[in-house]
Amino acid sequence: MKTIKRQSLLYKTGVEYGDYTINHVQGCAHGCLYPCYAMMNAKRFGQSKTYEEWCEPKLVENTLELLNKEIPKLKDKIKSVQLCFTTDPFMYGYPEVTEMSIKAISLLNSHGIKCTALTKGVLPIELAKLSKENEYGITLISLNENFRKEIEPNASTYQERIASLKALHDAGCKTWVSIEPYPTPNFVKQDIRDILESVSFTDKIIFGRLHYNKKVSEYKDYKKFFNEEAQKVIDYCNENNILFHIKTKTITP
Ligand code: SF4
Repeated sequence: MKTIKRQSLLYKTGVEYGDYTINHVQGCAHGCLYPCYAMMNAKRFGQSKTYEEWCEPKLVENTLELLNKEIPKLKDKIKSVQLCFTTDPFMYGYPEVTEMSIKAISLLNSHGIKCTALTKGVLPIELAKLSKENEYGITLISLNENFRKEIEPNASTYQERIASLKALHDAGCKTWVSIEPYPTPNFVKQDIRDILESVSFTDKIIFGRLHYNKKVSEYKDYKKFFNEEAQKVIDYCNENNILFHIKTKTITP
């Protein structure tokens, strides 16, 4: 795969449930079509001119050098590091990305820094050997493979994703599931309880609605729909002792 060099890597995110983050790949082969917020930004700031360019990822080859330089300076301020916000740390079909992510997490852990990872690829079982403080997550907005092929065309199948999460859970790791960006029924007809049941073993669930897609507002009563689905997530999590977080602007008056 292509590589690039960067000047810096660790930075503080402004998002709801994030502290520090690293994005050690430019672009993402998964090519999600929700659309992907990271791709929209990359296009706006000229890092990727086209969808095709976005889907051709470039690994930051000096990731470990940068971390070795930056960790000592920021160590006291960092509570946790999330991989990743603008790419995918376990990109499907890119073992080089997975390998670099494992090395980066391992290095951060060796300085006592906990990591959180989120993927639409497959979580490698090697993560079970790293700090048990880490939290490993998958995005899961459906169980319908035809819909997955449309909206997350180059990501892993849902079943592979769930199986990799379950394997880490069984190995004693903390796991979480991001049900975001959740679609309205005019994208796919589904019962959110089936999704919840498929990951009933997980420690935490994050739920958030789909934004930035005009098809959502074409669905009559979409606000009511998201309010009801959020309530189903809350009820399910309460019944099953699963921690949860509902993203802001998902429940609205
Ligand atoms: S996996 Fe994440 S970063 Fe990659 S294309 Fe999909 S939404 Fe964007």
